Amino acid sequence: MSDRYAVIGNPIAHSRSPSIHREFARATAQDIDYGRIEAPLDGFAQSVEAFRASGGRGLNVTLPFKHQAFSLCSRVSERARVARAVNTLVLETGFGDNTDGVGLTRDIGDNLGVSLQGRAVLLLGAGGAARGVVGALLEAGVARLLIANRTVSKAKDLAQRFAGATARGYDELGGERFDVIINATSAGLADEAPRVPSALFTETALAYDMVYGRETPFLAAARQAGARTCDGLGMLVEQAAESFFLWRGVRPQTRPVLDKLRGA
Ligand code: NAP
Repeated sequence: MSDRYAVIGNPIAHSRSPSIHREFARATAQDIDYGRIEAPLDGFAQSVEAFRASGGRGLNVTLPFKHQAFSLCSRVSERARVARAVNTLVLETGFGDNTDGVGLTRDIGDNLGVSLQGRAVLLLGAGGAARGVVGALLEAGVARLLIANRTVSKAKDLAQRFAGATARGYDELGGERFDVIINATSAGLADEAPRVPSALFTETALAYDMVYGRETPFLAAARQAGARTCDGLGMLVEQAAESFFLWRGVRPQTRPVLDKLRGA
């Protein structure tokens, strides 16, 4: 029987993780079966346990369960500990990791060819996704990292945990310039955008939205102001590759899968 893995979240129907992992498995000749689990909002731990008890080997965790996944683990990686959020569970050992940060920095650096070294970066959002990437952005050598969020106190709490990060509200960004602006909010899912001044985008080399598969109002505003834009599909593929490596010990090539998804 194939080794079983899945992505767990709520909602989950539109997740592209199953097709990504099936492509990785085919390309690396790994015998795995990868599905989707929609856990009830009040039943995450029970759903994880039921999958584990039925032979499940590993899970990717998505919205809104990354913090609960962190609390479930008996051992976590340093990057998951810092983020207090887990997106990859190894069920045999109870180990948890967070591969979102490395997924983002590999997509920006390797796939898009934009160096983060020495750059001024604005990170919008302070939820699970933002928490997962702050450490990786600082490790990539950014010169400045400003976190802005609708609920300013959450941005401040997050920034406080990292030397080198600062925080503000959206209405305090006037007159600033950033090389890279990353939207880690879920606003795009509701066809909304964080309320930042549109003048912010005029000197920006890259505006990146973690939401994927749609033209969000954030990307539209950035493009209109002349910035290069990108959605989060590459991040999704890169974080998946890191999870796959953790589970199987084999590193799949990401470019063919990303090209295939973009072409679809
Ligand atoms: P979350 O924990 O629920 O956090 C949501 C964040 O979005 C908070 O900062 C929230 O601000 C902000 N927000 C929501 N609606 C907003 C609006 N209308 N205007 C301004 N800010 C708004 O969610 P998450 O786990 O961080 O995920 C965020 C997004 O990243 C999701 O869309 C997810 O799909 C995406 N993501 C993509 C990848 C990838 O691989 N591409 C990986 C991880 C996550 P408040 O704090 O003020 O509520």
